Amino acid sequence: MKTVKHTIALLALAVCAGAGAASAQPQGEPDGIPVTRMSRMRVFSDPQQFEQQSKLQYSQLLSEAQQKQALVPANHPQVLRLRAIAKRLIPYATRWNPEAARWQWEVNLLNSKQVNAFCMPGGRIAFFSGILTQLNLTDDEVAIVMGHEIGHALREHGRERAAKSEATNLVGKLAGAGLSAWLGVDPRLTGAATNAAAQLTVLHFSREEETEADMVGIDLAARAGYDPRAGIALWEKMGAVSQGQGQPLPFLSTHPSGDSRIAEMNKNMALVLPVYARAKGVNPNALPAYRTSAVATR
Ligand SMILES: [Zn+2]
Repeated sequence: MKTVKHTIALLALAVCAGAGAASAQPQGEPDGIPVTRMSRMRVFSDPQQFEQQSKLQYSQLLSEAQQKQALVPANHPQVLRLRAIAKRLIPYATRWNPEAARWQWEVNLLNSKQVNAFCMPGGRIAFFSGILTQLNLTDDEVAIVMGHEIGHALREHGRERAAKSEATNLVGKLAGAGLSAWLGVDPRLTGAATNAAAQLTVLHFSREEETEADMVGIDLAARAGYDPRAGIALWEKMGAVSQGQGQPLPFLSTHPSGDSRIAEMNKNMALVLPVYARAKGVNPNALPAYRTSAVATR
């Protein structure tokens, strides 16, 4: 009887209104990618409990990485660089999810050959050094990757996924077994240099979620003054490096083919380029071509 009551209470709390925000913009001003409503499906009605768990998981990951000397120190130039880029993107996150104003953002770099990055719900970001070195990312491209991962967290893709699977097995999952899915860890983390990272359960996002994360990514980047065309360069680079290695990069194995993403980004470039030009204070028609950096494709 007690279990039944518990279930009903959880279900009642599970359905909360999704957040949809449209920022007021003077007419005629470029306004980037339009914000759509998020799914109304929500589980883990207790945001504080969820926040605590996410925080704990992230700090466990960091401390295990530190023990294995895989946590890059805070004064390392690449950590400073990642944090500087995050600082420019973060002010625009609330457009996509007003709750982000209360997130405790963190950015860390894990020393691993993996071409990977993720953002947990609540704004806890980690990059693997492999994505910076193997893809020789420019700042614009880092902003695109970071914006994409932040996009998954902002749009609560992990939560939505968990909510859908939860519907059939709510109580059992909430007992702890399904908790790791809540991390919203984006790409496959198997074979990671850190055990902690490997232990994180993988969450595969749908194609729609990937597209939305791409759109949030180019929108955040453009507002922060990073060239959204870097998104196209990034996926081209990812494909070239994969081909050179004779096997797909881990990031690609969980992310649908570059070609369709590039097409989708190109389709929306006209919406974000004027926003980027405004951020840079230049005429949209006078933007120089995007310049990427070379990568070793062997
Ligand atoms: Zn993704």
